[in-house]
Amino acid sequence: MSQHRLCILGATGSIGLNTLAVVREHPERFQIDVLTANTNVKQMVALCSEFRPRQAIMVCPEAAAELAQVLSSQPSTAKIEVRSGLGPLQEAASNEANDTVMAAIVGGAGLAPTLAAVQAGKRVLLANKEALVMSGQLFMDAALTSGAQILPVDSEHNAIFQCLPREAQQLGSCDLAAAGIDKIILTGSGGPFRELPLAELTEQSPAAACAHPNWDMGQKISVDSATMMNKGLEYIEARWLFNCTAAQLDVVLHPQSVIHSMVSYADGSVLAQMGRPDMRTPIAHCLSFPERIASGVEPLDFMALQNLTFASADAERYPCLALAIKACWQGQWATTALNAANEVAVAHFLNGSLRFTAIAEVCAAVVKQLETTHAGHDVNSLEAVLSVDGQARANATNLIEMNYSC
Ligand code: NAD
Ligand code: MG
Repeated sequence: MSQHRLCILGATGSIGLNTLAVVREHPERFQIDVLTANTNVKQMVALCSEFRPRQAIMVCPEAAAELAQVLSSQPSTAKIEVRSGLGPLQEAASNEANDTVMAAIVGGAGLAPTLAAVQAGKRVLLANKEALVMSGQLFMDAALTSGAQILPVDSEHNAIFQCLPREAQQLGSCDLAAAGIDKIILTGSGGPFRELPLAELTEQSPAAACAHPNWDMGQKISVDSATMMNKGLEYIEARWLFNCTAAQLDVVLHPQSVIHSMVSYADGSVLAQMGRPDMRTPIAHCLSFPERIASGVEPLDFMALQNLTFASADAERYPCLALAIKACWQGQWATTALNAANEVAVAHFLNGSLRFTAIAEVCAAVVKQLETTHAGHDVNSLEAVLSVDGQARANATNLIEMNYSC
């Protein structure tokens, strides 16, 4: 039985809490070394009281001060070291006191600590897809150099990983054709607006966009699922993890979210990973790989399953998906810019200052703006990534303030 000491980046989020739900069931296997969060003090107090980490980090200094005060007043938590800021996140992710890092911060904020874990040669359980979308080759090269083991938490990539033969599970450098694989098929539900009349898309509220039919997730990824930018980011994520060409990567709509993705082999066999739409399954798979542990998720009840259906994604309904697929093959500058523009646009949508359909318009415009200065240029250092990211965020903010305030 393998044992691991964990650093959980983004412990208070949907993935963080699901990770701790699996950990709770296996105290003999997992110890918590570090928990991190942005601002949620109440949740962190509860998690620190239960899991007694060596260290608790809150990015927000006021939140860290409040957490330190509460923890020091309870005998059971008084020894937990509380830190604040971004530097400690990177230190914790690369500290030798833990061997496994769950990268579950949402968005670009997760890039630096996730990359620090990769550079330190950790087992990195990757949920934070934006980090890989932003840095692609840099991220995978860092893993090859350090010997870090990347395990995909995203349910689609986890499904694909499970359907690959052992020799192709070398993420970043696998040779799909040599392993007899024709195609990777990413499945996506199509989100809550899959059947809505197109004319009604523009007036959809944040609450409606976040009401995903199958998955219970954080707000940002829920909006990304409604636009299908999430599937676009996953397409880019798959390209890097599985070393795919455009011809080796397809997206198929599958509204029931029972098949989590598939691998199609040269002999006509298609391997699919199936299960309930519950992130504890891929999380448990990554936590214990190559062993298997209980996740708390019930097996599929085939007698209760309705039809499993499949369709292609409608380009008019999901312009973000096409933007992401195009950006994937345009170059690193394009995926970094697209991700940044999307984060800014989604934040504005969530606070009520941008229409749902304008998310795609802002993303398209920002990538186009940056194309003139960045196309053909290498983005192969963290500084270069952060520079494109910063510029795209500034452009997206300007664009929204000038043209889109609602
Ligand atoms: P969430 O919003 O529920 O949680 C985000 C976590 O990140 C919280 O702990 C928060 O404190 C922390 N955080 C937020 N902003 C931060 C910042 N600026 N600096 C440091 N920490 C910060 O998000 P989630 O749904 O758990 O998603 C986390 C990541 O996992 C995302 O990249 C998402 O795409 C990916 N993912 C999520 C799911 C899911 O089911 N929720 C599935 C697949 C992939
Ligand atoms: Mg996914």
